Amino acid sequence: NTTVNVIGAGLAGSEAAWQLAKRGIQVKLYEMRPVKQTPAHHTDKFAELVCSNSLRANGLTNAVGVLKEEMREMDSVIIRSADDCSVPAGGALAVDRHEFAGLVTSRVKEHPNVEVIHEEITSLPEGPTIIATGPLTTEGLSQTIKDLTGEEYLYFYDAAAPIIETDSIDMNKAYLKSRYDKGEAAYINCPMTEEEFDEFYEALTSAETVPLKEFEKEIFFEGCMPIEIMAKRGKKTMLFGPMKPVGLEHPETGKRPYAVVQLRQDNQSGTLYNIVGFQTHLKWGPQKEVIRKIPGLENAEVVRYGVMHRNTFINSPNVLKPTYQFKDREDLFFAGQITGVEGYVESAAAGLIAGINAARFVQGEELAVLPQETILGAMANYITTANPDNFQPMNANFGLLPPLENRIKNKKERNEQLAQRALGAIQNFVKR
Ligand code: FAD
Repeated sequence: NTTVNVIGAGLAGSEAAWQLAKRGIQVKLYEMRPVKQTPAHHTDKFAELVCSNSLRANGLTNAVGVLKEEMREMDSVIIRSADDCSVPAGGALAVDRHEFAGLVTSRVKEHPNVEVIHEEITSLPEGPTIIATGPLTTEGLSQTIKDLTGEEYLYFYDAAAPIIETDSIDMNKAYLKSRYDKGEAAYINCPMTEEEFDEFYEALTSAETVPLKEFEKEIFFEGCMPIEIMAKRGKKTMLFGPMKPVGLEHPETGKRPYAVVQLRQDNQSGTLYNIVGFQTHLKWGPQKEVIRKIPGLENAEVVRYGVMHRNTFINSPNVLKPTYQFKDREDLFFAGQITGVEGYVESAAAGLIAGINAARFVQGEELAVLPQETILGAMANYITTANPDNFQPMNANFGLLPPLENRIKNKKERNEQLAQRALGAIQNFVKR
């Protein structure tokens, strides 16, 4: 009759506690609010939505919609509560945030297997534990996690470059090559003439950016510069930085472009590429327009926009297993945004799997790795197998899934088939 400690009653911790409790496991759920607040939370409720009240798309033509459906199959308290207090939002699942947090709080808190303790945790409790303290994990606990993972494997902000679906890159314009042909041709290069560069530069420097929150202002001082800020330093700055064309002559003509945008492979299967050095703070609409000005990326499908914000997360490819279990301590799990998933639903999803696996762990059962065809499984796979040298958080998206056996050109049709395959796989998993 072992107890599992869950630290943090946000999106991930609430879901993890629920999954444990419903499996008959005793849970000690530690939440510091209202004793101590984060810079973004305002209430003492569990699963408080700190910004938008939307849990994003609900339909099966969108990966986050499929993820929700998978979570419904697994009795997610977060998605059930969201469904119970949804407000009209077209194809999205948006909620009354107060009612939503209230419902999650009462459902988790009133479960007879859950004990809630309002206290800030700074050192890890003994026994099986899930850390789900989110992007704004307190300093004391961050230090403990740093000691655990090693200094270089815990990050305090997220400076991500956009990620593109490989299929949407026009390879008649772009070409594969590594600078000076060193090693194999590993990068996709988008070449620009001087006129194209001028047009791109104009778009980049005039596009609208997201205002920084007060607690995020420290980010730029840590030596991480958004591409639009670099551009504003002078027109040539980027030509000596991420857009440097030397050694990237066109393989057929031998001609050196005026500027080059490089993309680097982002996942093992090669379905996603990120734009090198393009961490950015541009708003998503203008960001898409700027990206589509790059030759070869006119029809780019962006699966994850560049962002820069305060975010505490671990280098999961180095330290975590796809069961959300810490590699060096088998009774320790991580869940939520701190694992490098990004978003409300994704965080809850990570909590769901960590909760199930912590339950299996204390019951002496084999831990679950979900099928890669599911969004739940594909996300766990991504965060634990992505390139550890360049690890940035990830949203749910179809590019994470293994491709279908038959290539389907029509995107809507392809996504529908990926969704059906995912739901079939999750239903089989639940039946097992
Ligand atoms: P949280 O929901 O933050 O939960 C962590 C919990 O742990 C909190 O309740 C906190 O009080 C508690 N805690 C922290 N440290 C300790 C400690 N030492 N001891 C005890 N308790 C502790 N995602 C979206 O999908 N849409 C958005 O609009 C969006 N906006 C965001 C805006 C901001 C400012 C931030 C920071 C993030 C945003 N995110 C958004 C990203 C992310 O989805 C949310 O942060 C989400 O809440 C993460 O879930 P979580 O469970 O991992 O963390």
